[in-house]
Amino acid sequence: MDLRKMAALKVMEILEDQGYQAYLVGGCVRDECLGRSPQDYDVTTNAVPEQVMAIFEKVIPTGLRHGTVTVIEHQVPIEVTTFRKEESYKNHRQPERVRFIGSLREDLARRDFTINAMAKDRHGNLIDYFSGQEDLRNGIIRTVGLPAERFQEDALRMLRAVRFANQFGFRLDAATMQGISSHKKLGVYLSVERVTAELEKMFKSEKVCLGLQLLFRTGLIFFLPPFCHWGLSETLKNQEINYKADKIPNLNARWAYLLELCAASEKDVSPRLDDLKLPKRAKQQIARCFLLARQLVAPPSCQSDEDWCRLLLRHGLETVIEARHLAGLIAEKLVVPSECQFSMWWHKMPVHHSGQLNINGHDLMQYCRRPKGAWIGKVLYNLFEQVALGKIPNDKVILLKEGCKLGALDKK
Ligand code: ATP
Ligand code: MG
Repeated sequence: MDLRKMAALKVMEILEDQGYQAYLVGGCVRDECLGRSPQDYDVTTNAVPEQVMAIFEKVIPTGLRHGTVTVIEHQVPIEVTTFRKEESYKNHRQPERVRFIGSLREDLARRDFTINAMAKDRHGNLIDYFSGQEDLRNGIIRTVGLPAERFQEDALRMLRAVRFANQFGFRLDAATMQGISSHKKLGVYLSVERVTAELEKMFKSEKVCLGLQLLFRTGLIFFLPPFCHWGLSETLKNQEINYKADKIPNLNARWAYLLELCAASEKDVSPRLDDLKLPKRAKQQIARCFLLARQLVAPPSCQSDEDWCRLLLRHGLETVIEARHLAGLIAEKLVVPSECQFSMWWHKMPVHHSGQLNINGHDLMQYCRRPKGAWIGKVLYNLFEQVALGKIPNDKVILLKEGCKLGALDKK
């Protein structure tokens, strides 16, 4: 058995021995029913946080206000949350304050969707008051209770509905779909961070086409920060989402495709990525992918195989392949070498970055008797290209001689 599950069951056993109730709950119960491996095992209990902290030796008070304590069992962190009810939602977001309660049923009733509102005791018996298992079987995302109420309480649930439908290839039940259509405007109350985190989870699923379709068809995306600040035309709602988007294997390229769907111009890309508050490295990679894809779609400036190889050296195989995928989604016909061809060229190259040359800037300065300057970077890149393209060998003496010649040319 999974070590994490063993740890969760042990925590539950200890709680029960102390006279409390304890259940596995939420995502792990759903994932087990689906035959998927859960991300983590969460436990819910009627013991209040102080009681949980008094029972276990190693505990971290992760979110006491929300009733959550992390218990370390078998070196595995297990989140233990007290049965709770959420009260007085403000600004259509999950409330800061909650009330602890004694009823599992009420705790399950405050959860977002029927498939997320099931619990399991430590003997494996399922507690399913809202027909979550039936919805799982039929592939349906349905709110617990009335969609209108649940989306007014917390607007993030609309985006979560789309994310779960996408993740599992499920459909939204008619009332839940209707609820999103009529409450989508509440999306503006959400924080960018939460929107980006949900989209990121969606993009990490195996497929993305369904989620993107739902976001645009329902029009929800036009009300989510930061998208709602971009002045997007609602006609974008009717655009075709390319089913081949499912084949984009990479998270960054999926973000780049979303920017394409939002009709970003080349100068929009950087500020829009800032708006999404993505990590710096991701932003750089997404921008590279987006811009290179645009270049590949435009009439090719590369004429010969050598031109393509130079492009490959400038951007690296990974970026070229990502951008090629994206370009394939936005152009009807692509006049670009195949992924396989790029990959073959790349693997034939003896070097892939200038650090692999058998000389460095210092060697060049000494040999050419010239001081430091911008010339070094230029000369090294030129030598690197020539070696990668098989024009000269990666030999120290030859590189130094050739480097000096190039350096002298650069001086003129
Ligand atoms: P994942 O596998 O992606 O983590 P999850 O269902 O575990 O999916 P979490 O965000 O970890 O999702 O939330 C854990 C549980 O808490 C959910 O299964 C659901 O029961 C409940 N939950 C989370 N967010 C909300 C929300 N906004 N409104 C109501 N219930 C929620
Ligand atoms: Mg989870």
